[in-house]
Amino acid sequence: MLDKSRLRIAMQKSGRLSDESQKLFASCGIKINLQQQRLIAFAENMPIDILRVRDDDIPGLVMDGVVDLGIIGENVLEEELLSRRAQGEDPRYTTLRRLDFGGCRLSIAMPLDAEYTGPQCLQNSRIATSYPHLLKRYLDEQKVRFKSCLLNGSVEVAPRAGLADAICDLVSTGATLEANGLREVDVIYRSKATLIQRDGEISDEKQELINKLLTRMQGVIQARE
Ligand code: ATP
Ligand code: ZN
Repeated sequence: MLDKSRLRIAMQKSGRLSDESQKLFASCGIKINLQQQRLIAFAENMPIDILRVRDDDIPGLVMDGVVDLGIIGENVLEEELLSRRAQGEDPRYTTLRRLDFGGCRLSIAMPLDAEYTGPQCLQNSRIATSYPHLLKRYLDEQKVRFKSCLLNGSVEVAPRAGLADAICDLVSTGATLEANGLREVDVIYRSKATLIQRDGEISDEKQELINKLLTRMQGVIQARE
């Protein structure tokens, strides 16, 4: 069992947020050896344990109070929040700081030859996405009815495969869309990585450590701007 007096931070094990998260910890003075393929890494010089997991698990770990802090893309965080609310839960957490990496946008894209003059063009269409709740929130606001096709990978091939009329997926450069004969027609959410804290009681020692880390992060991020 883990030592509960140590601050537990969840980060993505391997993916687009891992290197930057790791760099951020290092620049805050946390000494950890993340070379080994281990789930938990112990900081050598501070009472901190780093939990390395799939990014999709991070919002839930924080909302369920299993870890104290987490670094996560706002897209994944917001989708989990909406998903839990849809199930009648009232998930809680605090955003400590929006970070300066992991920038991307969640966009609707359509085949190059499809006409698009606005969200109304999507009326009654089928849209492939890994973000059904964010998509629904956006299209509900636009009063557009649609059917979703939930895919957790290969979303961009769905139109070509005849599974959907459009997609709603993360974009950073647009190269993947282009390679699949799609064009971005509407941005529905802009995301960055963010640092969140669980709700509820926390010891003074842990809170002091969190405050110290935040001050350091502030300095590091400002220096990069
Ligand atoms: P995991 O194995 O942890 O589930 P993943 O494949 O779901 O990883 P990544 O592709 O590593 O996730 O992306 C993690 C996060 O990085 C995204 O949720 C998003 O916040 C951010 N991100 C930044 N740029 C992009 C991009 N171009 N495409 C996808 N995600 C991006
Ligand atoms: Zn993921």
